[in-house]
Amino acid sequence: MKIDNMSPITIGILGGGQLARMTAAAGYKLGLRIAILDPESDSPAQQLANIKVVASLDDLSGLENIARISDLLTLENEFVNAPLLEHIESMGVHIYPTSRTVSLIQDKLFQKQSLEANGIDVPAFIEVSSQKDILEAGRRFGWPLMLKVRRNGYDGRGNELINGANEIPKSWTKLGGETRGLMVERFIRFKKELAVMVARSSNGEAVTYPVVETVQKDHICHIVKAPANVSTAISERAGMMARRAIEAVHGVGIFGLEMFLLDDDSILINEMAPRPHNSGHYTIEACVTSQFENHLRAILGFPLGSASMILPAAVMVNLLGDRSGVSNISGVEKALRIPGVNLHIYGKKLTRPNRKMGHITVLGASVEEALEKAVKAASFISF
Ligand code: ATP
Ligand code: MG
Repeated sequence: MKIDNMSPITIGILGGGQLARMTAAAGYKLGLRIAILDPESDSPAQQLANIKVVASLDDLSGLENIARISDLLTLENEFVNAPLLEHIESMGVHIYPTSRTVSLIQDKLFQKQSLEANGIDVPAFIEVSSQKDILEAGRRFGWPLMLKVRRNGYDGRGNELINGANEIPKSWTKLGGETRGLMVERFIRFKKELAVMVARSSNGEAVTYPVVETVQKDHICHIVKAPANVSTAISERAGMMARRAIEAVHGVGIFGLEMFLLDDDSILINEMAPRPHNSGHYTIEACVTSQFENHLRAILGFPLGSASMILPAAVMVNLLGDRSGVSNISGVEKALRIPGVNLHIYGKKLTRPNRKMGHITVLGASVEEALEKAVKAASFISF
């Protein structure tokens, strides 16, 4: 895409959640036009869209519509129908991540096989097609085991920890083993969970963001501390693994890599996301160029921006729903009274337990200082 002397470029985003909303905001800064495909006309990103295409993500005519009006397409969610993406590509419209990258990533089994085939360390894993296979895996890997749905799992909703053979039937039924593809992984006793964002341009240029520590509660990302408190050697190794992982799936755009750091300082990749990632929200305020802007620059083939932090530390705390119903936000004034609080509200009309409704980022001289303020501000907010 040419940068200069162009009428406004239209980027079409498949999906209208908070990731698309924050990408749209970064796009407007660059003078782009944003089209959003999402079935809900008032979803977080549709609220901001220049052009709304209101249709489901697997509706062919909706996809063709957004493809026709966009110069370039991207997606905020890898759980899309890869053959439909291929069809759009065959219309001559570029989509990043490509259908090839998406089909390697959206299935956790294929994803781990691709990483392993490229010499990247991952937890030991195996496909399971019966309860007997799980029992066999338990004998081989030891208990507990992590049972996962291969597709469409997010926020831990497709994961079941199995502590022993007697728990197999319950977990098998809960994840729908009779009808859904499943896999198991060795349970990893990590000392920290790390994450790295990498932006890779269509011309091969790449920038790596600082390695961060993520803290999950009930399998859901809760807190991100930037940078992670690890040695330079570990952070360099994590960054290198992240870049190799993206190359393994021919990735273009921003990618989030989730990793486990073990007691012996070895690193395993847990999973990769071909899109902006919750562990990179802190980059909006804390880095010279946010993950959202660098995603757009990468897919457009523009020069990438610096991924350096502008202050020594940042902490992001997710704001999760804690009940079901119409969202009714309170505590904003108290939270904003704390100096340095950056509050993001995603504009979701309905809340439910553990739904991601917003986040708070605080920068500081140290992670401890930023953490204290961010946690305090978050404690005031409810939806
Ligand atoms: P998300 O959408 O939050 O990324 P997900 O549904 O894709 O989640 P995973 O990333 O596979 O699920 O797992 C969620 C969390 O569960 C991980 O961050 C980690 O804390 C834990 N977990 C996953 N796999 C393993 C494993 N093999 N051993 C130990 N813990 C694990
Ligand atoms: Mg994950």
